[in-house]
Amino acid sequence: MNKRGSLFVEASILFPMFLLAILSICVLIRIIGTEENTIRSFAEEGQKIAKEAYVTQLDVMPESYSIELLEGIVHGTLLELRMLERLKKEDQLLKNPGIDRFSYLFSEGDRTGLIQCSIVYDIQLPMPLNFYRQLEFEQRLLFRGFIGAENHGEGMGFDSMEEPGDAAIVYVFPRAGERYHQLHCRIIEVYPREMILSPSLRKRYSPCKLCEADSLSWGSMVYCFDTSGRAYHKGSCSTVERYVIGVDREEAIENGFSPCTYCGG
Ligand SMILES: [Zn+2]
Ligand SMILES: [Zn+2]
Repeated sequence: MNKRGSLFVEASILFPMFLLAILSICVLIRIIGTEENTIRSFAEEGQKIAKEAYVTQLDVMPESYSIELLEGIVHGTLLELRMLERLKKEDQLLKNPGIDRFSYLFSEGDRTGLIQCSIVYDIQLPMPLNFYRQLEFEQRLLFRGFIGAENHGEGMGFDSMEEPGDAAIVYVFPRAGERYHQLHCRIIEVYPREMILSPSLRKRYSPCKLCEADSLSWGSMVYCFDTSGRAYHKGSCSTVERYVIGVDREEAIENGFSPCTYCGG
């Protein structure tokens, strides 16, 4: 009899503690779940901002504007809008989210193009008996924007990103050619090069009036002559009979091209 009584006492002490432990774990899981989800969304949105940083390398703004400030505001606002929209759908416990401490393309030591931002939010936990507990959180991201620059020194700028600066680029006639050439080889000089129409190309070449090349949209394939008047043409233009394309030297060799005897390839 005595022994059974002590069992009851023990159980009545331990059982509430056990329940409390289970409940605490449940609450903790929900908090961690919300935290994990937020940082994942934040990292994904941050990645978009990092990719979009290349836009700063295009000269799309008039120079008189304070570009850095403006671009910082634009990209910061974009990030905030996307995050708020996303979190509204994804998490019910999360309240009052906001982006804080957004710094855009700053340098620290020898590292350039850094982007930093943090997200602040509350997690509201529904408790029994209409109690609410609100916890504050802050998560921070630090990453580099894609600005086409090595980690050290000056940025490359969009023009040089598009230029085949690497010596491994050679030029071939895509349909009927056997040799590969260097950019300034006499044999290919008179033929146009196939390129992609971009704002920086548009600055260097003007559209051909004959084939109405100015109706092409960004990203179209155009054919550019370097020697006779810097114009770009549609593929269907009568001036474009044969053209060359830039390819990787190794790729050219793999496809059976051999070096030009004139320029050495
Ligand atoms: Zn050649
Ligand atoms: Zn033309």
